Amino acid sequence: MDSIKLLQRLVRIPSPNPPGDTRAVADFVAERMRAIGCIVRQPAPAAKPAARNTIAILGEGAPRIMLHAHIDTVPVAPVEAQNWSVDPYAGIVRDSALYGKGSVDDKAILASMMLAMADAARQKSLKGSLILVAAAEEETGGQLGTKWLADKGHLPLCEFIIVGEQTGNKVATAHKGVLRATVRTAGVAVHATNPDRGVNAIVAMGKIIQALQRYHQDLSRVLHPVVGVPTCNIGVIAGGSTANAVPDACAIQLDRRMIPGESPQDVVKELGAVVAAVDLAPATATLGNFVYSSWFDSALDGDYAATFMDCVRAELAESPGPIGYMPGSDAKHLVDIARGDMIIFGPGSYEAAHAADEHVKLADYASSTNILKAFLRRALYAAEAEA
Ligand SMILES: [Zn+2]
Repeated sequence: MDSIKLLQRLVRIPSPNPPGDTRAVADFVAERMRAIGCIVRQPAPAAKPAARNTIAILGEGAPRIMLHAHIDTVPVAPVEAQNWSVDPYAGIVRDSALYGKGSVDDKAILASMMLAMADAARQKSLKGSLILVAAAEEETGGQLGTKWLADKGHLPLCEFIIVGEQTGNKVATAHKGVLRATVRTAGVAVHATNPDRGVNAIVAMGKIIQALQRYHQDLSRVLHPVVGVPTCNIGVIAGGSTANAVPDACAIQLDRRMIPGESPQDVVKELGAVVAAVDLAPATATLGNFVYSSWFDSALDGDYAATFMDCVRAELAESPGPIGYMPGSDAKHLVDIARGDMIIFGPGSYEAAHAADEHVKLADYASSTNILKAFLRRALYAAEAEA
């Protein structure tokens, strides 16, 4: 399998989400994995049959190592489309980089994993099993993708899991969780000729915003070694309808990033206490619309993790990490599947993903493949490598 052609083929099969139809790309992965001798299954949720996943297994029994990458991409947004200098689905190679929607997020590491599977299939005496998961629905949160696969028993418990995302080929061992919430204030609407007769919900919200900003600053006293500090951002505000009336309603939306160890229930209580402590009377405030996704954190103390770090160090000639991965990933849905360490790993930067002229440097893509192959040879074929 020529590595550049393989990645071009993957980029040339569009899989934007929404709508999240991954059937064609899942089938391509399945066909390639069957050809190298894998047992392949392609589960899809009844709630969204087009969100097809591919699970390819080589060998059997323990130890089990999982290679996981998502096969959906973000769509090309209308504004973004004007800024592409190449066709986003052509897989063009220019200046030692391969361009295309999904090239770095997440098809390069998917291709590296497929190449590593093929290399593994050529070895003799595989000890245990190697599982490639090409997952749908990551870009919309994974509820009908990896979370569904895990909940429905489609994924075996694994001794080591590598989740493919953009870490500059370093080893990421944690990411933050997110809790979103809405705060609403209620007042009394009157004509603006005499505002003091009413109760201004926007003015009340102003006090809450000040309190939340102080809360955000206080949060920075807690530091996690790889993902940094928890934060609270006010991202949306809406209130009032005309300048000549006192508004009776205002709402803000919050994004509260949680570091490993923080529970969403505790964070909801903290936010409630912050809002309750603000003197708003006679206006009132409520907090609700909670939506959250978990953080993930791996101790990185097992033998597989040590071996993987060695392989990264040898290839990069610089510190392999551990680092934090700033966006979320499907790793949060695999916590109950992991019997040992789980890491996030892949070429490029997440800053280049989700943008015009998304690309992956061919050298970085080659390094990812080299690291995965070296790791699997040492992890699953130790005796043979020594012979
Ligand atoms: Zn991704």
